[in-house]
Amino acid sequence: MPDRSPRSPRLSTVVPPCSRRAGDGRLTTALDPLDQGPQDACGVFGVWAPGEEVSKLVYFGLYALQHRGQESAGIAVSNGRQILVYKDMGLVSQVFDDASLESLRGHLAIGHARYSTTGASTWQNAQPTFRPTDDGSIALGHNGNLINTHELRRMVAELPSMPGELDLHSRAIEPSTSDTDLVTALLAHHPDSTLEQRALDVLPLLRGAFCFVWMDEHTLYAARDPQGIRPLVLGRLERGWVVASEDAALATVGASVVREVEPGELIVIDENGLRAHRYADAAPKGCVFEYVYLARPDATISGRSVHQARVEMGRQLAREFPVEADLVMPVPESGTPAAAGYAEESGIPFGQGFVKNAYVGRTFIQPSQTLRQLGIRLKLNALEHMVRGRRLVVVDDSIVRGNTQRAQIRMLREAGAAEVHIRISSPPVKWPCFYGIDFATRAELIANGLDVDEVAASIGADSLGYISRDGMVAATGQQPDSLCLACFTGEYPVALPDESLLGKHLLEASLSSPVTGRALPVLNNP
Ligand code: SF4
Repeated sequence: MPDRSPRSPRLSTVVPPCSRRAGDGRLTTALDPLDQGPQDACGVFGVWAPGEEVSKLVYFGLYALQHRGQESAGIAVSNGRQILVYKDMGLVSQVFDDASLESLRGHLAIGHARYSTTGASTWQNAQPTFRPTDDGSIALGHNGNLINTHELRRMVAELPSMPGELDLHSRAIEPSTSDTDLVTALLAHHPDSTLEQRALDVLPLLRGAFCFVWMDEHTLYAARDPQGIRPLVLGRLERGWVVASEDAALATVGASVVREVEPGELIVIDENGLRAHRYADAAPKGCVFEYVYLARPDATISGRSVHQARVEMGRQLAREFPVEADLVMPVPESGTPAAAGYAEESGIPFGQGFVKNAYVGRTFIQPSQTLRQLGIRLKLNALEHMVRGRRLVVVDDSIVRGNTQRAQIRMLREAGAAEVHIRISSPPVKWPCFYGIDFATRAELIANGLDVDEVAASIGADSLGYISRDGMVAATGQQPDSLCLACFTGEYPVALPDESLLGKHLLEASLSSPVTGRALPVLNNP
């Protein structure tokens, strides 16, 4: 059992970036900035399991969640006396090796894989975040994006300084600029109450999407926003507990699924077992895009297999937009289940017309200008013998800017395709997401300015069909009013503040504000 003696030393450390920098965290988009699909906002994983190699469990859990964030990765571990945080820019497999995991020993750990939505992609903003408290320290990981960052910044500014707190501004040390760090600061300040009680006070103040896992030296905490916008599941190990963004990550570490963390619920796990608190009434508005694209196909969300949902979206597309064709092919990998469904429903043979470079986006080597001009060819090649002379139905999950589809269609025609009919398993994306998915600005979204025929002409397709909103929702098996559909409808389930108070670089902008001329009290242990 961990040592809970009040005389335990309270050594808490964040390991600085090592000399072996993994990269700048801009791996995928650096290949071709114009070719960027929806980007997710992080995967979280937490383990409370005395006697297990918890950092390795977290490592493999994060590995299973890598698709949710590829900019930076980190693990925090506690041995009951101190928390050690190790984080860096890059993929999970680039940040950690045997030696680093060997040094992360304890009974309790959390991990995080980041895609940035508030705060730049920098080491300072990599997670888990870390803060000292009056009686120890906390480390926290966040999936989602908050929309009242401006309010949280004011609340943090009003907190009294901690004894011994570093003045980062006077030391010219770059501070953290994420919404997550503000929440960590609010939670860390609990001089007259427990962290558990402080969480019950702070969580109702947050607006937007959040799945948090955090820890002090002894306890694992997990919380989900009242809308349950992002998924979070609870699992059981023989000798402990696990929480993860997706249940597929539980299977990876041999944990069984217990249940989803409920919207509006706080879970606390320590040597006394598991305690669940409801800090807000549940008002479910799960992100429909988790079913369309974001989650792993082997995940189950709200009782619905994501793979089954995607296959059904393909079937529905075939019913809504039939076409005479010779081959149904996916844009790999995310379009594959929907393409299988389309083929099944239409009776048109299914086949691969593209081959994806499986390791693309896993390099930090910047392509030369000549290579960059090849754009999509760094990621995909057409299989000429499959497409030549054929009428193709190409199934993909979404169209954001249209650049990707335009390049794919050109590639297929160059390979000899007779016709190219595009079928998309989500409706036209017309609005940005403020709850943790980075599509593009409204002006950049191709469906925002053009109708369907104009989009088809713009990308060079012979025909284009988007699944209907009702068809997509039905495929998820969820009640329409329990889903967020804001990027299709513009109806945001958690009311947004003024546009000037939103944006990825809100806190960076404030840091250099000529109005205040003061540094934000947003600290990060360097
Ligand atoms: S706006 Fe779209 S991507 Fe964002 S949470 Fe809602 S459904 Fe998901």
